[in-house]
Amino acid sequence: MILIPRNEDYLESLKDMIADSTSSYRIMQLYGKSILITQDDSNPILKADNENLIAIKTGLYSRDLTDRNTSFSIGNVNIGGKKLIIAAGPCAVESLDQTIEIAEQVKRLGADMIRGGAFKPRTNPYSFQGLGKDGIEILEKAKEQTGLPIVSELMDISDFSYFKDGIDMIQVGSRNSQNFSMLKFLGRTEKPVLLKNGMGNSTDEWMGAAEYILSGGNGNVVLCYRGTRGFERRTRFAMDIGSITVAKKISHLPVCADPSHPSGNRDYVESMALAAVSAGCDMLEIEVHNDPEHSLSDREQQITFDTFGRIVKSARKIREFILENSRYVG
Ligand code: PEP
Ligand code: MN
Repeated sequence: MILIPRNEDYLESLKDMIADSTSSYRIMQLYGKSILITQDDSNPILKADNENLIAIKTGLYSRDLTDRNTSFSIGNVNIGGKKLIIAAGPCAVESLDQTIEIAEQVKRLGADMIRGGAFKPRTNPYSFQGLGKDGIEILEKAKEQTGLPIVSELMDISDFSYFKDGIDMIQVGSRNSQNFSMLKFLGRTEKPVLLKNGMGNSTDEWMGAAEYILSGGNGNVVLCYRGTRGFERRTRFAMDIGSITVAKKISHLPVCADPSHPSGNRDYVESMALAAVSAGCDMLEIEVHNDPEHSLSDREQQITFDTFGRIVKSARKIREFILENSRYVG
């Protein structure tokens, strides 16, 4: 049960009310509000107290908490505002030269953030697993060189110390989207989180994952849609544009779209990226490579700088158009 005092002055009486209760009650701060959280929804006093308390039945992710779009800043980059934020870079950090070249080129072409995996969740244990800690150091150099913030995937809580100082945003990958101990852990930090949907998860399960982070007190969450497993084999995953529409409608959190993983083929990325922006996403995360044919991870879906440059131009025009003409974003 989630309860919000209508008036902050009521907080003290609320604390008294729950002081001698045996159930677990917790008062937390989120977006400047004091919120009471309890797993016990049978307390008759709290249940009946509509006068002083607002009960949120859905979740902290929901527009029932606030109808204002949530936005937050990483350095100069504001996610969830009017500007479409574009994170770009290779699937995997492969070397210093490769990463610096890609970072400089995507910056020149208009990227706002750099993405790159140092710890890679590969299907096959004999595939390239990423450079690990060395990869994180390379990303830090790319940040130094370009001034752009970095997003990178954390696969294991025990690696968090490598990410803590230099990595600006933690990506929770599709395979870890329901790793509840990792989500709880990130909820206790203040790190911005890019939360992918699990490839076999429904929208409500995805929102449940976000709820784990939010209920720890970390409100800096971006929902990143990356498709789900379907029966189609021509694309790698099924990209349901409607999921972006629904996420924007039911949640106040910024929504990102990853057109690279559902495409699984570089020829489809541009179209899927633009469709996602038309559906109202606030952010794009795209895999771009200096030598796509020879990349060490997700080779078929890495796009060239030329394609990326075209996507940025069209995506920004579409964003402008829908901000002026639609009611559902901004
Ligand atoms: C990635 O971004 O490279 C990645 C592994 O993504 P996902 O978790 O969506 O498969
Ligand atoms: Mn990838």
